[in-house]
Amino acid sequence: MSWEELLDVVAAEVIVCTKCPLWKTRKNAVPGEGNPESPVMFIGEAPGQSEDIKGKPFVGAAGKFLETLLSEIGLSRDDVFICNIVKCRPPRNREPMPNEIQTCTPYLDRQIKIIQPKFIVTLGNYSTEYIFSKANLPFYGITQARGKFYQATILDMQVIIFPTFHPAAALYSSKYKETLQRDFQLLKNKLKHAVNT
Ligand code: URA
Ligand code: SF4
Repeated sequence: MSWEELLDVVAAEVIVCTKCPLWKTRKNAVPGEGNPESPVMFIGEAPGQSEDIKGKPFVGAAGKFLETLLSEIGLSRDDVFICNIVKCRPPRNREPMPNEIQTCTPYLDRQIKIIQPKFIVTLGNYSTEYIFSKANLPFYGITQARGKFYQATILDMQVIIFPTFHPAAALYSSKYKETLQRDFQLLKNKLKHAVNT
């Protein structure tokens, strides 16, 4: 099976999943999407209302800003793979609960193993905490962790983890917005270097 077909198998399971209570209130599960051969994977938190309606990741206001950030570094959403640690929308966009993260993340782990990204960009506290724990890195919150590259081993693979703020944070504060834009420039430079070596 191709990488694309393997990802389709995961997505098909996610769409009908009833492993945690979030399936009861979802309209659509959101497995994630993008280029299965991308060297970069973006991992957010959980679907919001627009994502729940469309079954696609980052298609609401935060997603618009993520697209802007990507375009500022010469990428489009089709170039990369975009997904979340939790695949169904928590009611009223509350934060995902530990049992939901624990139950859902085997899907994410499978996606990571199929895609074998060189870079994992974690967006916000929850995805960073999860990926850091996989990598045995201590986590002291996104504000401390963000904007740095962490060479790590997760799921028996060498990856570079790059945490930054969640793009939704930029909708509330221009400070977050500017930091995100600067972090994406760091990412652009690192990607250029990685592709040229
Ligand atoms: N926020 C997320 O974390 N993920 C989405 O898909 C949309 C908003
Ligand atoms: Fe299944 Fe994850 Fe949805 Fe829970 S959030 S029902 S574990 S796909």
